[in-house]
Amino acid sequence: MPDDFPGCSACGGTGFKIVESDRGSKAAPCACLRENRVEQNLLGARIPKRYLHCTLANYDRMNLSQERARGIAEQYVKEYPRNENGFLFLGPCGVGKTHLAVAILQALIQQKGVIGLFYDYRDLLKEIQSTFRTGSQLTEMGILAPVFGVELLVLDDIGARQPSAWVSEVLSHIIHNRYNEKRITIITSNYPDSAGEQGGPTLEDRVGKRLRSRLYEMCKVIRVDGDDYRKTSRQAEYRF
Ligand SMILES: [Zn+2]
Repeated sequence: MPDDFPGCSACGGTGFKIVESDRGSKAAPCACLRENRVEQNLLGARIPKRYLHCTLANYDRMNLSQERARGIAEQYVKEYPRNENGFLFLGPCGVGKTHLAVAILQALIQQKGVIGLFYDYRDLLKEIQSTFRTGSQLTEMGILAPVFGVELLVLDDIGARQPSAWVSEVLSHIIHNRYNEKRITIITSNYPDSAGEQGGPTLEDRVGKRLRSRLYEMCKVIRVDGDDYRKTSRQAEYRF
């Protein structure tokens, strides 16, 4: 199939090279096959355009918690798949939690050949709900099967949608399923662990006690704090 891998001079675009050995010549996979697979896996991860540039190297660290979070993420990627935990990144809006989660996802796809998937929590719920409409081509299971089964799932901004019996059921179905299958899940949330001085809702208020403790079992909790990252970097841009 010429032109499957256009531009590769090593195999002429076929994906295979002829290798000579004592036993004669045989076809062996060309290096471009692997590169192509990585590219496909990056596309398949559904990372939103806004976050496609996010790497561990370009994560802005403006305080110790951000420095520490990046260090842990780097170590994790290097050692993958030695550690069975995922991550739960907690912290206020705009400290770069999604950046870190996407950076880990992209690094593991590129460096370790991982298959991963990014989902915004609210978008996922909306997509599932859209299957309930009559005439929908998709089924609930059609959307959830990859979410259950993918090697690495990033679930961004959990708790962002008002809890209801249905929302809790979907989330616990996903989390318990991945926990039982020992799959890695990286989660971000703007809701704090404890109410703090303002006394606003906590992560437990948004996802329930049982799910919160399950998340703590399967994820290493990383707290990231700091000034609003987007605000600060925008201000930095405005300076000139
Ligand atoms: Zn090739």
